Amino acid sequence: MKPFVLIAEDESAVSELLLYNLQKEDYEVAVAADGEEALMMIDERAPDLLLLDWMLPKVSGIEVCRRIRNGGANPNMPIIMLTARGEESDRIRGLDTGADDYVTKPFSTTELMARVRAVLRRIRPGLKEDKISVGDIVIDRVAHRVMRNDGEIHLGPTEFRLLDYFMQHPGRVFSREQLLDTVWGSDVYVEARTVDVHVGRLRKALRQDGGEDPIRTVRSAGYALRGN
Ligand code: CA
Repeated sequence: MKPFVLIAEDESAVSELLLYNLQKEDYEVAVAADGEEALMMIDERAPDLLLLDWMLPKVSGIEVCRRIRNGGANPNMPIIMLTARGEESDRIRGLDTGADDYVTKPFSTTELMARVRAVLRRIRPGLKEDKISVGDIVIDRVAHRVMRNDGEIHLGPTEFRLLDYFMQHPGRVFSREQLLDTVWGSDVYVEARTVDVHVGRLRKALRQDGGEDPIRTVRSAGYALRGN
């Protein structure tokens, strides 16, 4: 079945460009021109991916994202935010709200399509990779094993989920709040400081045989796994 992508965008020049490119890659595509319409269409049929403009009439993109993540029927729906804002603080805010990725306008169509493919590859089970490697770290999600430089790393369940999430997005910075939402689940009340504790444990485990610290702390922003 073709993946279904919903575009929520009020600028018709942008939505037409996206529509054209997505259809060319054989996706099924629908367009909503404002936030209210987007929410209604999502209620009718949940898309495999939502391309969501930040500034939408009636209900803003941020609010649409928030409603999907908090109490929507499909809270885990992949969302890529489209926005004219490129400030780092806005980026973090967008990711905090629960977007999976973030593209700043004007964007390159090639880059956006690559992100779309990457997000869909992650969520489509047939295409889901069982093993991911980043640098010298390999995670086997079926066998639930982690290797670094051919030595096995033993992790607790939370550290395993954290690493799994980092490895799906190498190089990307995640705020503590976002890690809490995706790794712990938004319905669980955990303090942001807990993230620091688990990241600390993960670091220690990954460095059991020495070697470089693969996790980068980004001051006042969060954590990232170093890319390749
Ligand atoms: Ca707009």
